Amino acid sequence: MAPTPATELPSLDRESPLLGHDDATIIFVLGGPGAGKGTQCARMVEEYGFKHLSAGDLLREEQDREGSQYGDMIKQYIKDGEIVPMEVTIKLIENKIVDVIKTDKGAKFLIDGFPRKMDQALKFEEVVCPSVFTLFFDCPEDTMQERLLNRGKTSGRADDNAESIKKRFKTFVETSMPVVDYFEKQGKVVKISAVPPPEEVYEEVKRQLVERGVVQDKFEWVEQGEYKQAATG
Ligand code: UDP
Ligand code: MG
Repeated sequence: MAPTPATELPSLDRESPLLGHDDATIIFVLGGPGAGKGTQCARMVEEYGFKHLSAGDLLREEQDREGSQYGDMIKQYIKDGEIVPMEVTIKLIENKIVDVIKTDKGAKFLIDGFPRKMDQALKFEEVVCPSVFTLFFDCPEDTMQERLLNRGKTSGRADDNAESIKKRFKTFVETSMPVVDYFEKQGKVVKISAVPPPEEVYEEVKRQLVERGVVQDKFEWVEQGEYKQAATG
C-alpha cells in the first residue's frame, strides 16, 4: 500500500449517524477559553460517572503520539488558536465513543470544547450522533483572561500566553459563538454563568441536569427543612 500522504484526512463519508440516543447520550460543553469547562466536567464525572472527552486534550494527545501524521499540523493550529480541520477532531472523538460504548452502551458523554465551528457541529450530528443539548458556560472575557494567565503559570500549555489567548478569544467570538446560537435556535442550549466560584456554578449545573432528566436528584424534597433519600427508579 502506498504511504498515506501527510495531508490526507480521515473520511467522514456516511449517509446517516453511526449512533443514536440509545447508544450514547451526548452533551456538548461549550464556553470561551478559561470559562471553566474542564473544572465543571471533572465534577460531573466524579458525581455521576459521565465520560469526559475533551477535544483539546484528544488533539494534544494525538499531537504527542509517536508516528502521528497530524502532529505538526495540530501544534500549529493550537498555538494560533485556530480550529483543526474537523475530520481529525471528529474521528478522535468518534473512536473514543465507539470504544466506550462497546462495554457501556448508553453511556453519557460530556464532549468538552467541541463543536467550536459550524462545520464540526453539523458533521458530527450528521455522521456520528445527535446531541441532546449543549451546556454553555457564559463568562466575560476579562475574567477568562485572568484565569488563563493564572493557569499559564503552571499548565505548560503552549497556548496559555497573552498572544495565543488573544487569538483564541477572536476565534471563540467569530467561529464558536455561531455554534451556540445555532443550537440556541433549536432550544438546545443550557446557559450557565461561569462567573461565580466553581462550587456555585456546579450547583446550577446539577440543577439543570436534574431538570432535564439526564441525572437523578439524589435527594427529594419532602417537607420544609427535611431531605430524604429518593426512592430508586
Ligand atoms: N481545538 C480544535 N478543535 C476543537 C477543539 C479544540 O482545533 O474542536 C484546538 C483549538 O486550537 C483550541 C485548542 O485546541 O484553541 C485548545 O482547546 P481546549 O478545549 O483544550 O482549550 P480551551 O477551551 O481551554 O481554550
Ligand atoms: Mg479545556
